[in-house]
Amino acid sequence: MTRKIGDIIKKLEEIVGQEWVITEREYMESYLRDETPDVLRPSAAEDLILVKPSSTKEVSQILKAANQMRVPVFPVGGRTGLVGGCVPTDPGVILSLERMNRIEVDKENLMAIAEAGATLADLIKAADEADLFFPLHPGDEGAQIGGLVSTNAGGVRAVKYGVMRNYVKGVEAVLPTGEILNLGGLLIKNNTGYDLMHLIIGSEGTLCVITKVIIKLYPKSGYSVTLVLPFDSRTDAIRTVPKILQSGVTPLAIEYVGIKELNKAAEHLSEEWPIQTANAQLIIILSGSSEDEVYSDCEKISEIAEENNAGEAVIAETREEQERILRIRSNIYTALKPNMVDILDITVPMSRLGDLMNEIDRIAEKYGAYLPVYGHAGDGNLHIHVMKVDGEVPGYVEEIENEIYSISLRLGGVITGEHGVGKIRIGKLRKALTEKEISLMKGIKRIFDPNNILNPGKVLPSD
Ligand SMILES: Cc1cc2nc3c(=O)[nH]c(=O)nc-3n(C[C@H](O)[C@H](O)[C@H](O)COP(=O)(O)OP(=O)(O)OC[C@H]3O[C@@H](n4cnc5c(N)ncnc54)[C@H](O)[C@@H]3O)c2cc1C
Repeated sequence: MTRKIGDIIKKLEEIVGQEWVITEREYMESYLRDETPDVLRPSAAEDLILVKPSSTKEVSQILKAANQMRVPVFPVGGRTGLVGGCVPTDPGVILSLERMNRIEVDKENLMAIAEAGATLADLIKAADEADLFFPLHPGDEGAQIGGLVSTNAGGVRAVKYGVMRNYVKGVEAVLPTGEILNLGGLLIKNNTGYDLMHLIIGSEGTLCVITKVIIKLYPKSGYSVTLVLPFDSRTDAIRTVPKILQSGVTPLAIEYVGIKELNKAAEHLSEEWPIQTANAQLIIILSGSSEDEVYSDCEKISEIAEENNAGEAVIAETREEQERILRIRSNIYTALKPNMVDILDITVPMSRLGDLMNEIDRIAEKYGAYLPVYGHAGDGNLHIHVMKVDGEVPGYVEEIENEIYSISLRLGGVITGEHGVGKIRIGKLRKALTEKEISLMKGIKRIFDPNNILNPGKVLPSD
């Protein structure tokens, strides 16, 4: 252990108490990785200390000490990220806020005040107990509020109310110098100066440590229905998506899925997918205040689907049936994971989704590769997987990914719409951003973190 790291242990023990400072490697194993596929996940450094504060004051003292001693700090949440963002890649301190997991619901203002270490599952439960609803559902309920905000997570139910950024109304955060910021509040409107809160949202643990978040909640929708629409032709399925939204119906979710991947996920769960006849399918979640409202939306969608050559829809009404459909959809990732090299989260304008898919087909054919594609069609956001061949990583991965990134940018899209840059996408940033944009970002990083102690080596390329 280096002297610098040895020196900070004593200081950390003074701040949080000895039992919350972990130095033995075997007790911190699960904090050394996230959910990035094995092949690409960065390795954790050797000299690491795990610390678990219980308050914002303790977080502030930890950062102040680390900044004075120039020791890197790596904030971790639920470690469900897919780009190596929280992996502690230099000797230093792993900062877990898991003990800071209280949630209060302010019913009058329809907001939750959640500490950053509370999980998505905790938030869903707290909202439900207050007879309110947190609609967004980024796949893994073990993700923490701090992680969800730091990555500006999206997920299946972003069509109607937007992504994490659209829910965050206030943030308490600690700067690397130990100073505490209180931004926003129980407010719908706030135009006071530059919007530091929105700069922090999506900053992937590189600007400050988020300790508390005020999150917008919604009234529980009285009624909800999940529709599965089968199409023989993918083009017809994709063409239907903007037509649904143009009709004035805004579902919670519009997902595109292929039968091959759905069957893999169903098999993984020992379940069966309800429609076997169609290659391309749309899963649509509708919610509304009454049965009549939802059924009228359902009818509108069925008419549009029929005009676009859909087969007979399956309509899931009970909570169990709807949860089963979402569970199978959510497990496509898990079913593919053992053979996955990478999961891309390309986002293009919705009108270009069909073009993106045609290009993916072309690339798959060119390289003889299996590139499963599915995802959040209502957001123009697709997950494209690069897979192993016979258990081995094929030599074309880098080439294929570069082609996909170039196509997305050409179609007016981005290289990541959900997972962020983290560690593994840094090398691609210069494809997507100008030098001016990168230099502005570096300037911002220097202002927030002059000694580069917070999550160093993440998001921004070195000079
Ligand atoms: C099965 C599965 C499905 C998923 N589905 C989706 C999806 O649909 N949509 C989507 O957007 N993502 C999805 N993800 C990715 C992941 O769940 C999200 O990125 C999530 O927001 C990460 O939260 P976390 O708490 O696990 O963060 P971590 O992985 O622990 O960290 C992510 C980043 O946030 C930073 N961070 C964490 N906590 C703090 C804090 N308190 N202060 C400052 N920085 C912090 C870390 O330093 C790191 O840079 C999925 C992942 C899995 C495994």
